[in-house]
Amino acid sequence: MNNLKMPVSELNRVGKTTATQLKRIGIETIKDLVSHYPFRYEDYSQILTIEEFKTQKTGTIKAKVNLIANRRSLRKKMILTEAIVSDKTGSLQVVWFNQGFLTKTIKHGQEIYLAGKIDNANHGLQLINPSYEICANQRPIHTGRLVPIYPTTTSLTQKQIRFLISRALKTGNNIEDWLPISIKNQYRLVNLSFALKQIHFPENKKTLEQAQQRLKFNELFLLQLKNQIIREKIKKEKAPSIEFKLKETKRFVKGLPFKLTDGQRKASWEIINDIKKESRMNRLLEGDVGSGKTIVAIISCLNAVLNNYQVAYMVPTEILAKQQFQNISNLLQKFQVKIGLFTRTNVLVYNPKSQKNTKTTKQNFFKKISNGEIKIIVGTHSLIEPKIKKTKSKIRFKNLGLTIVDEQHRFGVKQRSNLTKLQNENNLSAHFLSLTATPIPRSIALTLYGDLDLSIIDKMPPGRKKIITKIVESCKKSDTYQFIREEIAKGRQAFVICPLINSSAPLTSKYKQINGLETKSVKEEYEKLSQDIFPDLKIDFIHGKLKNEEKEKIMQDFNSNKTKILISTTVVEVGIDVPNATIMIIKGAEHFGLAQLYQLRGRIGRGSDQSHCFLFIENEGPKTKQRLEALLKAKNGFELAQKDLELRGPGEIFSTEQSGFLNSLKIAKLTDTELVQKTRLASQKAIKNYPDLVKRIKKSINITHLE
Ligand code: ADP
Ligand code: MG
Repeated sequence: MNNLKMPVSELNRVGKTTATQLKRIGIETIKDLVSHYPFRYEDYSQILTIEEFKTQKTGTIKAKVNLIANRRSLRKKMILTEAIVSDKTGSLQVVWFNQGFLTKTIKHGQEIYLAGKIDNANHGLQLINPSYEICANQRPIHTGRLVPIYPTTTSLTQKQIRFLISRALKTGNNIEDWLPISIKNQYRLVNLSFALKQIHFPENKKTLEQAQQRLKFNELFLLQLKNQIIREKIKKEKAPSIEFKLKETKRFVKGLPFKLTDGQRKASWEIINDIKKESRMNRLLEGDVGSGKTIVAIISCLNAVLNNYQVAYMVPTEILAKQQFQNISNLLQKFQVKIGLFTRTNVLVYNPKSQKNTKTTKQNFFKKISNGEIKIIVGTHSLIEPKIKKTKSKIRFKNLGLTIVDEQHRFGVKQRSNLTKLQNENNLSAHFLSLTATPIPRSIALTLYGDLDLSIIDKMPPGRKKIITKIVESCKKSDTYQFIREEIAKGRQAFVICPLINSSAPLTSKYKQINGLETKSVKEEYEKLSQDIFPDLKIDFIHGKLKNEEKEKIMQDFNSNKTKILISTTVVEVGIDVPNATIMIIKGAEHFGLAQLYQLRGRIGRGSDQSHCFLFIENEGPKTKQRLEALLKAKNGFELAQKDLELRGPGEIFSTEQSGFLNSLKIAKLTDTELVQKTRLASQKAIKNYPDLVKRIKKSINITHLE
């Protein structure tokens, strides 16, 4: 449908200004216009007589203009357009503010529709600022019907948008319906072009509902069909078969200081079975914060290495990279594996013979990767940077067999897909494992990540006590400090989290807002705590702006219990594992999203001692407590996510990039389980029975539902 791609500027009455204004709300083409759906409708469907209107106070009338004129209001310094209209049953006074041009559009003697609300003004009943439309032969679009109300900005009026959309619908008159007839029949769906007209200008409530049903179906169906297409494509990629090394795996597991949980076993088993195959694994490992995903990932690393394949392990922060590098070095000590650390500022090689880390140049490091000497490379996004600074070379693996991305929600889609494209001399696609603690309920994960297989660790390791979480008002802070003092005397440690102030870490818009708020900085907090409150204790602080070496030193001191209290921005959010830290204060807790609070709190409660989390509220809003209480009540991240979904929709749970994906759902909701289920079945049917449709979608996987 060529017309759909036409820029809006080619529509009548769209000049430069309007085009810019439209662009601001994401509308550039006819297609964008017709898929700019109303977010609600005003029911002006009944045309009333003036007499009826005066009693009902709201609705639409059809009346004749007896008089219309502008007047300047001296007091309020604005132009008033006043009119008297009448029909068989009576007459009515109408007023518009600051719309002087109306006297040019509306003429004496004309018949017009007026829709709006009657107010009881000083001079009796008045219809104020109504929508109007001059009666013509065609059906009205602004009045006398279910009138669409659109998301817009102040500079674009509802009337303008309505007008443009009605024009666009005419231009794209014969929108071709791509959905196979048998699917349409089976699910009783109306035609696409009918649906589009009805979503904007519904005949009645029933046709509106039909339109909504069809368009929701489109979105969820396409989302799932695309995922299945990607999934099939991935299954066709040739990958190395990584054989299960039973004996060594058993030895490794026996050497751990704990027993694996059932969830960890099951997930490990699913992965082991998957990487055995010659088609590429594409798997998401989901598990609550602290559920022990790392061990599962390391078991798969071990098997890859024992099969003589290399592993690339990507994590979102430098601190986490170092921690993971050390962790893997220790755990695999018995297996004599050479391990590399590659971040922006740190290039290290761990040699299992000497049990030492040595610094090395990038060139040398790359050589050790391309000749297969280093088996496991832990790194940040530096691993996938297209050109590594100051070197002409690029990472090239000899025999890469497995790539892992930890805390996958912190990376963008592009970064993750780049990880699967690392250069590799064996000409095979490495298996891919993605770890996340974002608690997405299974049903939703299946839709959102339908291209991935899913493993879930559903239970925490035994012996963990529930973290006692309390909301603390300003006046009660000193009790909390006293409590912390006692716990530290018993040997425990504490985190104090301040809302982000000046971190260079990638920020979502929400964090940026926090940035601007006058919350106390980490440094200020440090001064306060170390001078006034705990002058006798070793306190330290960490934030994103510090040099890497400084950060490492600070983390080391905290890890070894030299530092008792660590004040931090959200840099501790991901992955950090210090089981002896059992206390956390989150300052300005109201600034954080629930999911993020949940992740932050996951830094404690990792050992066998009872942990405590204190949520300090700085500026209490009307719903602050209610919101935070959801965190107190939720038994696990999945439950919290479900609650969050119900309360506020998916935006709160998913990070920017994922919500970008969700933006493709304009009208459908992932929580609409019945429709999700139906469209999943329909997409499975389509992939088998409708090769033409599949071919079309393959050609442009970015296709939207109108093409
Ligand atoms: P996450 O899933 O958040 O990445 P980690 O893998 O960092 O969690 O594990 C959290 C902590 O739990 C670590 O200290 C780890 O050693 C420990 N752990 C992992 N598995 C078990 C288990 N089965 N029993 C007891 N402790 C475990
Ligand atoms: Mg982790």
